[in-house]
Amino acid sequence: MPRAAPPQTQEVYANLWKIVSRGLPEVPIILAALIYTHTQWLQSLLAPLAPFYPYAVFGAGVLIGWRFHRSRLLFALLLLALADRTLVYFAAGHGLARDRVILQAIGLLLPLNLAALPLTSERGFITPPGLARLAVILGQVVAVSFLDREAAGATAAVLHTQLLPKWLFAWTSLADPALLAFFVGGGLVLASQLMSPTATGRSFAWALVPTFLGLSTVRPGNPGFSTFYLATAALILIVAVVEASYHMAYQDSLTGLPARRALNEALLRVGGLYSVAMLDVDHFKRINDRHGHDVGDQVLKMIAAKLAQVGGGGKAYRYGGEEFAVIFPGRGAEACVPDLEAVRQLVEDTRFILRSRFRSKKKKEKVLTDRGPGERVPVTISIGVAEKTDRHAKWEQVVKAADRALYRAKEGGRNQVTV
Ligand code: GH3
Ligand code: MG
Ligand code: MG
Repeated sequence: MPRAAPPQTQEVYANLWKIVSRGLPEVPIILAALIYTHTQWLQSLLAPLAPFYPYAVFGAGVLIGWRFHRSRLLFALLLLALADRTLVYFAAGHGLARDRVILQAIGLLLPLNLAALPLTSERGFITPPGLARLAVILGQVVAVSFLDREAAGATAAVLHTQLLPKWLFAWTSLADPALLAFFVGGGLVLASQLMSPTATGRSFAWALVPTFLGLSTVRPGNPGFSTFYLATAALILIVAVVEASYHMAYQDSLTGLPARRALNEALLRVGGLYSVAMLDVDHFKRINDRHGHDVGDQVLKMIAAKLAQVGGGGKAYRYGGEEFAVIFPGRGAEACVPDLEAVRQLVEDTRFILRSRFRSKKKKEKVLTDRGPGERVPVTISIGVAEKTDRHAKWEQVVKAADRALYRAKEGGRNQVTV
């Protein structure tokens, strides 16, 4: 596999901002959980429902993980459920002394196991890699129960090793090795997110927060809010899978622009006067034929990036293939021309340069860049724009009119905007 170039510092900051600013819906879920565990009357109010919460979450999670083929979600659910049932079992009068081993062992292993999941790829559940993962998890269960039975004193001593300033972490039930495991696990996920952010990685990073809060509330003989918080961690992971699936349906994976489905819905919503522009890359087939499909894809990405910045309140979509669409709410066709003309000019002026084969970081593959010496690939686009009128009142008619205008632009010699 070709190694991706390390991200620039700016990119790392941008990724950090993404993790924080896209903390929807994770942050509200965590805040709601905090409010619940700190508000007596809310707990009384929801008391009849509370016992069902973890079962509902885990049930939904298993269903979604299975139907959406999300083995990492299934493994996370398994880990959280294992941790939860073990804590509840030992809290129910199986000896306070053993809490000392079990809670800290879970505190040590759970964050590391959860953090490892987003660092690996989706490899299935009942497949050789999936079964290997399962074996690793069960191996840890066997090891902990063995140590708990045969060497409880020594294990407890190790798991309670004093490593951090006592006054700083007095409020949590977790001892220092477990705390460090949370720091290391969280740090690893966060670092990988700063390099290349993913929806899955972000959700696992956030899920460590309620996991930590849950384990922190366990007291000798009392599981505290651990079940509630571990279920909340699962909820965060589940919502992320659902959200990612929604994005996949509405977002074009190549260009990052909203896709045809999103365009259709936007056209249904837009009221009053509006204009639609249709864009098509000129002689795109030639670019593909000469330089290959990968270069063609990169041209589409670059055009999409320019188009996303279109002025005049326009919103860009990938219509399909090498065609794009822009909706301008509240604007007539003539008024959109200068903004579209600016994009057309921008694309024409962009120096799409091919790195020669041997300069390419990816072996034997041509790579497109917008700087440096090499073969220049001329890229232009044709644009047709139409507005809603009494004659073209339905959005399908407006799109058709824009398409006809685009055809005229092609007929007129390409690389132009036509109303
Ligand atoms: P014109 O100026 O008349 O638009 O000529 P054209 O060659 O661009 O027109 P045509 O519609 O014949 O070619 C479109 C080509 O776009 C055909 C198809 O192989 C290519 N294409 C469609 N989608 C993609 C894509 O996602 N990636 C790449 N690389 N090529 C694509
Ligand atoms: Mg076309
Ligand atoms: Mg074309």
